[in-house]
Amino acid sequence: MVSLRVYNTLSREKEVFRPVTPGLVRFYSCGPTVYNYAHIGNFRAYVFADLVKRVLLRLGYRVLHVMNITDVDDKTIRDSQREGVSLQEFTERYTRAFMEDLAKLQILPATHYPRATEYIPRMVEMIKQMLELGYAYKAEDGIYYRVSRFERYGELARLDMSKLKAGGSGRVRRDEYGKEDPADFALWKYWTPEDGDVYWETELGNGRPGWHIECSAMSTALLGPHLDIHSGGVDLVFPHHTNEIAQSEAVCTTCREQGLRFVNYWLHNEHLLVEGRKMSKSLGNVYTLRDLEAKGYRPTAVRALLLSGHYRQQLNFTFQALEGMEALVDRTTEFYVTLQALRESRRGMANQSFLERVDAFADAFLEAVADDFDTPRAFAVLNDFMHFVHARLPALQRGDVERALSVFEEMNSILSITLPLEPLTPEEEALLAERRKAREEKDYAKADRLRDTLVARGVIVKDLGSETIAWKPKEQRNA
Ligand code: AMP
Ligand code: ZN
Repeated sequence: MVSLRVYNTLSREKEVFRPVTPGLVRFYSCGPTVYNYAHIGNFRAYVFADLVKRVLLRLGYRVLHVMNITDVDDKTIRDSQREGVSLQEFTERYTRAFMEDLAKLQILPATHYPRATEYIPRMVEMIKQMLELGYAYKAEDGIYYRVSRFERYGELARLDMSKLKAGGSGRVRRDEYGKEDPADFALWKYWTPEDGDVYWETELGNGRPGWHIECSAMSTALLGPHLDIHSGGVDLVFPHHTNEIAQSEAVCTTCREQGLRFVNYWLHNEHLLVEGRKMSKSLGNVYTLRDLEAKGYRPTAVRALLLSGHYRQQLNFTFQALEGMEALVDRTTEFYVTLQALRESRRGMANQSFLERVDAFADAFLEAVADDFDTPRAFAVLNDFMHFVHARLPALQRGDVERALSVFEEMNSILSITLPLEPLTPEEEALLAERRKAREEKDYAKADRLRDTLVARGVIVKDLGSETIAWKPKEQRNA
């Protein structure tokens, strides 16, 4: 079996992946803060998590995947108040939109999508434990994590603690009162008037959780104290993931006593740039999936683009590259539909040397994705494979087609870059039959007219020698 190698941010090295429980992977991905529509940079992180999961599944692992929904923080509170709606109504809207976008991007559903507000009791429990163990202390405006108490603090980000303590990094917030050390961070924030009606009455006092404790609570509640993989964008290494480790390991007995870790493999995707620049509102280059759809692009092409670069390198999103991906998803879809049609119409045994070549493509593909998710290499293999098969289409026997089809399906089970299709309506089927007849009768003018009618209805019609194949993508280009 092919073994998976992943680049672990913790060690800054590629390591052979071994889960805590053989055959099972406990996987957590930081999800969205639902105060707005997620942008395509965010979706790079979620498409990457989907890739990781699909590769794990392909390698035979069972995957427990948790992606949280951050439905309470400064931004969700601020923006719901601005709109004058309840926090719940506000975040529910963007949670629903997020789920729709995930489906459009062919992202497999996670096992659980916990919402932070459902895990407040657990956060309170963890904070109480940290207070008892000396990892947390009460201050004027909230409860803080005592960074100096946790020996491994900053290991993931390779922080220089002497600089951090001096507050010299510029990243340390100064607007928090009564902290012992500028590096300490909030676990629980006591209610202030700006919070309005957003607070929980708890043993810790009325207030709300800090962002970092949310992920520690949800991940360990659903996956236990030791996760195999935790993913997120590079901007989360510090402070978010650094603090997640500090919190989760503080309340984990096996971590404290045996040095076991909260997470064994930390995977971080690099950022997405747009036309060579950082996405920002002031540059007007922050695109949501909806924005791109409104411009006539299809979600499957967006997915392909997000997968086309290696996840540890910055990816430059350009409309030119997106056009290229539009063409690619059309090509893969046509290839797939063609092989399915030929499987029905061809007869005969496979050609041994063809099978060997095709299997070699399958191996090369799997080798690429198992080597730290090397999608640029995987795309190249897919391309070569499609060229190879396409050039031999007329000569293929049923056995050849079957193998080529299964190899394609295997590759596509990981990339998932064919367009979703819908069945032709009975009326469209009738038009297609009429066109076949017209072609048999050599009435090409009529056949062309019928094709135009079908195309206008979103049906793609291709003649393959004497055969005709037709398919109807659910996503249409409206550019
Ligand atoms: P946020 O909602 O800001 O917490 O971000 C959600 C996820 O998207 C996190 O994993 C971020 O690291 C990731 N992310 C944010 N911006 C980008 C970007 N431009 N490119 C790639 N990932 C991003
Ligand atoms: Zn998180």
